[in-house]
Order: sequence, then C-alpha cells, then structure tokens
Amino acid sequence: MVRPPRLRVDCFALPPGVQWTSVEDALMHLKANLAPVTVVERVPAGRAAGRILAAPAIAARDNPPAANAAVDGYAFAHAATGEGDNILPLVPGRAAAGVPFTGWVPEGHAVRILTGAVLPEGTDTVEMQENVTVEEGRIAFRGPVRHGVNVRRKGEDVTRGKVLFPAGTRLRFNDIPLLVAAGLGEVPVFARLRVGVLSTGDELKAPGSPLGPGQIHDINRPMLLTLVERWGHEAVDLGHAPDRREVVEALLDRAAGEVDAILTSGGASAGDEDHLSALLREKGQRHIWRIAIKPGRPLAFGLWQGVPVFGLPGNPVAAFVCALVFGYPALARLAGGTWPRPEGSLLPAAFAKRRKAGRSEFLRARLGADGRVQVFRSEGSGLVSGLSWANGLVHLPSEGNDIAPGDPVNFLPWSAFGL
Ligand code: AMP
Ligand code: MG
Repeated sequence: MVRPPRLRVDCFALPPGVQWTSVEDALMHLKANLAPVTVVERVPAGRAAGRILAAPAIAARDNPPAANAAVDGYAFAHAATGEGDNILPLVPGRAAAGVPFTGWVPEGHAVRILTGAVLPEGTDTVEMQENVTVEEGRIAFRGPVRHGVNVRRKGEDVTRGKVLFPAGTRLRFNDIPLLVAAGLGEVPVFARLRVGVLSTGDELKAPGSPLGPGQIHDINRPMLLTLVERWGHEAVDLGHAPDRREVVEALLDRAAGEVDAILTSGGASAGDEDHLSALLREKGQRHIWRIAIKPGRPLAFGLWQGVPVFGLPGNPVAAFVCALVFGYPALARLAGGTWPRPEGSLLPAAFAKRRKAGRSEFLRARLGADGRVQVFRSEGSGLVSGLSWANGLVHLPSEGNDIAPGDPVNFLPWSAFGL
C-alpha cells in the first residue's frame, strides 16, 4: 500500500531560543509542520459523511442530467402558444420518469408528461395538469404561459466538471446529496486517523470504581476519547499507565504499532513522576512547548517511533482546552483535512475581569439569552462542572486589556472547534 511520507523528526521543534510561545505562533508552527499521515481509500458516497476528501470532488455529470418536468401536465413548444385560449392536439403516448417519450412532438402539439420525465424532443415548456382541460385528444389552457415554465433545466443545479469540494474538505452530512447528484458514486478519502488516548498517574481509577485514599477517577480518558470521536477520528483506548516508566514505555511501544497519533494526559511536565515527558526526551523526540496559555501547563510534543504524541496537561479543564485549541486542528491536519481556523464572534461581555498581559486565556463561557457572554464562576482548572455549564470558550488575547461589562470579547462556541 502507498503510505504518505512520515513526519519530519523535528516537526515539533520550535525555533531555537524561543521560551514562551504565543498560541498563534504555536498554531502556525503546527500548521506548517504537520501533514496527512493516513492512506487513501475509496468509499461509497453514502458512507462519506465525516470523511476527508483526498482529492477534489469534481462533478462527473450535469444535474439534472437532462431537462425534465417539474410537475405532472403537458409538454409543448412555447413558440406555438400565445395570449388567451390555447388549444393543442395531443400526440399519442406519454413521457414518464424513467420511461422517456421516444417520438418527436411537432410544434403546435402537446404530449402528456409526468414529473421527472425527460422533456420530449420538440418541447420546452410544461403546463401543469390543474390548469388544463383535456377533451377528445386535445388540451385547452389559458395563455400566456412563460417560456420554459415547470421545466428543470439540464445542469441548472450542477454542471459537469465543477469542483464541488477541494481536497481536504471534511464532508458534512448535508454534502452527500450533492456528491450523488453530481454522479459520484464513490469518493477518495483519507483512511480515518486512529488516535490513541492514554492517561497517566498512580492516582487514577477507572470511571465508576470505588476510590481508595488519594485516588480520583480518570476523567481525561473518556473526555478525550469522546472528543476524538466527535472529530470524526477513530478513538483507540490505550488505557491507563501508573507512574512507572516501564509500563508507560510498553504502552507507547504497543500504541505506536496500532495508531497514527497519541494523546496523553498528565505526566507531561518535568516533575519526578513525569515519565511521559522523560521517556519522550530519552527515547523519542521530545519538545516542550511553553505556551502562553491559560489554562495549560507546558505541553509536550514528540514522536514515538514516528508516531506524533501530544502530551496534554493532567488537569481536566486544561487538558480539555488544550485538546480543543491544539489537538483539534493538529489532528484534523494529520487526518488529511485543511487547517481549521476557529470562527468566533465578537460579543459583549457580561463580566468584568482584570488581566495581565502576556497570556492568552480561554475561559469556560456561555452565550446568554441576552446575547452577552458569561463566564463560569471560577477559573479553577479542576472544576469540570464548568465544562458542562459552558457552551463554548471565550478567548481573551494576550494583550491583556481589562474587561468591563459590555466590552466585545471573542466567543468560540463548541462548533468553532468542530464539535
Ligand atoms: P500531572 O500533570 O500528572 O501532574 O497532573 C496534574 C493534575 O491533574 C493532578 O491533580 C492529577 O491528579 C490530575 N490528573 C491527571 N490525569 C488525570 C485524569 N486522567 N483525570 C483526572 N485528573 C487527572
Ligand atoms: Mg500525574
């Protein structure tokens, strides 16, 4: 099978000397250095929703492929009709959907036609049956009728050769009818990106299990698996590693053979138990990015046996925000998509906040019924209730101007992150 080239080993290396990286620069770096890593396959159009086009989708035919009737009625040449009463003799036979009329209709004659039937030769206009009386092999209707009325023109929807979607488009549920109408029974798409999700930490227990002293439930793994699936990738549960280097290493080794990208959470800093970070440094390629973002501690990016690893923070809210801000576009790109740019809207703040310059902040936010943006009662990055409360994030830029109620702020609904 033809495989795309692997990522360059230094794809996560920031320019030397860079200490703190802005969110914008970090995103630009990822955009410039990541490329699709999956193979191309063909899928039926009806299975293509959520998949990413590996080549432009080009209309293979006109839609409609031929002029046809939009109503049940009678077809004739407009040239022979006029004001007042029109009486046209009927030619025998009829045109029905899928069973075209094979003859020719002389000017001044009409033929019975049903919705969806190809317009017979010699006709260009259809009068609907409700406006027509039929008697003794003739029809009568009141003129004038408009030329071409009740006719769906050949190619009026789509013309053959038109680029419907460029390569890299993630097809939406509402794009499928167009593919089929344009004659595309199958489309080339990138194989789904398999994204492994791994949690690290001695304190973590499976969701729902009883907790011993000092233990907490593993929130991040189900959270990240859900995000990955919502983004249209194949989510692979890599389980949970205790803070033991050899276990983390074995899990990464196994994962590298199974998945195209790995999201981990926890253990990404430089603490005693930050095995993920240490392993990547010693046995893979690791780059720590000190990104000027709140919430979020340093993020670790690296390759493990050529597979990109995104080391997210352990705090659930920080992991969530970093997954949306960095993981969403990075995974989209690895999966073959064009780089998504979150589209926010500037809306008045319903809150006040004093700020320091230097860090971009992403707060759990909610668009109120009054059109103003509210923020969660606390910025504590362990408060996952705020994720449920929110219906998006508000992005406060690093310039750090204080915010007063009514000031415009950039609200990013979940949909801005492909959710
Ligand atoms: P760490 O980066 O491993 O030091 O983790 C930072 C904080 O996040 C600690 O309080 C951890 O207990 C917590 N944490 C790490 N991983 C998870 C997880 N999967 N679910 C919930 N909390 C976590
Ligand atoms: Mg930990």
